[in-house]
Amino acid sequence: MTELSKVSVTALKGIGEAMAEKLTKVGLENLQDVLFHLPLRYQDRTRVVPIGALRPGQDAVIEGVVSGADVAMGKRRSLLVRLGDGTGSLSLRFYHFSNAQKEALKRGTHLRCYGEARPGASGLEIYHPEYRALTGDEPVPVEQTLTPIYPTTEGLTQARLRQLSQQALAMLGPRSLPDWLPPELAKEHQLAPLDQAIRYLHHPPPDADLEELAVGHHWAQHRLAFEELLTHQLSQARLRDSLRALRAPALPKAKRLPAQYLANLGFTPTGAQQRVGKEIAYDLSQREPMLRLVQGDVGAGKTVVAAMAALQALEAGYQVALMAPTEILAEQHFITFKRWLEPLGIEVAWLAGKLKGKARASALEQIAGGAPMVVGTHALFQDEVKFAKLALVIIDEQHRFGVQQRLALRQKGVGGRMCPHQLIMTATPIPRTLAMSAYADLDTSVLDELPPGRTPVNTVLVADSRRIEVIERVRAACAEGRQAYWVCTLIEESEELTCQAAETTFEELTSALGELRVGLIHGRMKPAEKAEIMALFKAGELQLLVATTVIEVGVDVPNSSLMIIENPERLGLAQLHQLRGRVGRGSAVSHCVLLYHPPLSQIGRERLGIMRETNDGFVIAEKDLQLRGPGEMLGTRQTGLLQFKVADLMRDADLLPAVRDAAQSLLSQWPAHVDPLLERWLRHGQQYGQV
Ligand code: ADP
Ligand code: MG
Repeated sequence: MTELSKVSVTALKGIGEAMAEKLTKVGLENLQDVLFHLPLRYQDRTRVVPIGALRPGQDAVIEGVVSGADVAMGKRRSLLVRLGDGTGSLSLRFYHFSNAQKEALKRGTHLRCYGEARPGASGLEIYHPEYRALTGDEPVPVEQTLTPIYPTTEGLTQARLRQLSQQALAMLGPRSLPDWLPPELAKEHQLAPLDQAIRYLHHPPPDADLEELAVGHHWAQHRLAFEELLTHQLSQARLRDSLRALRAPALPKAKRLPAQYLANLGFTPTGAQQRVGKEIAYDLSQREPMLRLVQGDVGAGKTVVAAMAALQALEAGYQVALMAPTEILAEQHFITFKRWLEPLGIEVAWLAGKLKGKARASALEQIAGGAPMVVGTHALFQDEVKFAKLALVIIDEQHRFGVQQRLALRQKGVGGRMCPHQLIMTATPIPRTLAMSAYADLDTSVLDELPPGRTPVNTVLVADSRRIEVIERVRAACAEGRQAYWVCTLIEESEELTCQAAETTFEELTSALGELRVGLIHGRMKPAEKAEIMALFKAGELQLLVATTVIEVGVDVPNSSLMIIENPERLGLAQLHQLRGRVGRGSAVSHCVLLYHPPLSQIGRERLGIMRETNDGFVIAEKDLQLRGPGEMLGTRQTGLLQFKVADLMRDADLLPAVRDAAQSLLSQWPAHVDPLLERWLRHGQQYGQV
């Protein structure tokens, strides 16, 4: 029998060009696709439920005899049909009906209906049920299996999708749909054969556990989730292998520059910084490109680690690019690196998207001419940016950069042939479960120690009805010579509205706190303006900084020890943690006031409660993941990661260790199974398989 992946949907009965096109839209091109297009949920049409036993909210098949049909007036005209079966009665209600329909539903008619029973004006009612009149004496059979409801698109009916899967299922067998999980692995991990799982999910028997299916813990779902997660791992392994197969410049361990750098630094690196520094230094000395993720909580001192790595490349005579996701953070790095590197005689170049005209042309020329240290935003990824001899790319706050962007760096290496080493730094601690899956292609180092002398930030929740008290608190802190942030959060996804709100708040606080020097910074200001405000704040010229979340990452002003966050309930926990990390950088005890707008939802209260309880980014990240799901946390839209058909990272987290083992076995013992799996699951999202 031919493999179903080779049979086009047009081979099925009743599928012409036009329908095939619609099917392509939902990703159905061949019969394997049809089989992997799994139901979202099921209806139980396998039995007729006595009307007296119906519960509100239940979808059910019922049978009965019409005792009357009347047009009811009310708010909207409707046809109300009374139906009884001896155990009870209910009404069928039709808002759209024809005279013929009304005639056909006359008293004494025997009906079979399907629909959801809901409490209505006349007791239980079913709105617009599916129904058919039963005539004659022979019993009409009920469905033998649960009825699948498929994900669909306009112009593609459930009936059509059922017909399709029916036909494809008729051709399903171990030959036509090869099971790429070898029996050894299936046995080891107690996984059912593929064709059985597929058949079950399209047509579960009447006794199937609908609740188990609804929550995704059925054995048939496990079988497929396992395969999907496995495929995901395989594709990451592929990506990694193909990157590792490239060559990178081997950079000898640096001596001269690090010694000078450390002598000027003014503090000694922490044990964690030294350890991670060594891990990186070793990677850089290899011919294989480094792919390393450094995780370190806010304030752990990742920048120093980045600088040490940069010095190794610079001393060897190569170029280094440092990228940050926002202009403000990139600028901050630019300033820091200038301060650190210029005394060592190393020039630092700048490139951001907003750089235009002559300045841009000259920056591009500098970079192509071999400027050793280049700092910028993702503008550094653009094709027209040519590096002379790039050996190391450092990406800060990487959760905003995706696999795609990482891949785009490959051609940026020396001579367009060599691949630069990649160092990725994130302050969003990634829970282990996610890290295993989302960043399987990276090695990881953890900066698990904060520089000495830090005091944990004391966080309190205050309702915005007490705003005036909070303003007084700002006054008091500034009177003691401290500095403060007042953060305005995003309004309805609109940057414009948010900036307006920040302006209003700025005016309000300026007049309420007449004696203080207050500054304003937001995303719609010019880079030069922002830089000026930040510089003033850093220098202590401004005492209070009203800001939008543009200050979220990286900004470093140790003298600021108070932060007010308005409407913190609008932000994710990871983001709040980032923001809060802007204070508590000096030796003074710092405070963070979460000025929320009541009432808070149950989850809202729980989330903000976590912020109050802990300063540990890992704990916060785990909770955030639990409460919000992985997609939001990693910014699925940007990364294109984690879009699974069957699997769910949170739900199926316990499968991951086994999946990992299985991926390794498959790669070493059954390498020929890898491509067909990638083809099956990732044909429409090829970023992993293809490099
Ligand atoms: P993050 O990991 O959040 O990027 P930074 O690199 O911005 O942290 O460092 C935060 C602050 O801590 C900076 O002011 C930096 O100079 C300082 N710092 C970094 N390492 C040390 C250290 N070992 N001892 C003292 N201060 C340090
Ligand atoms: Mg940082």
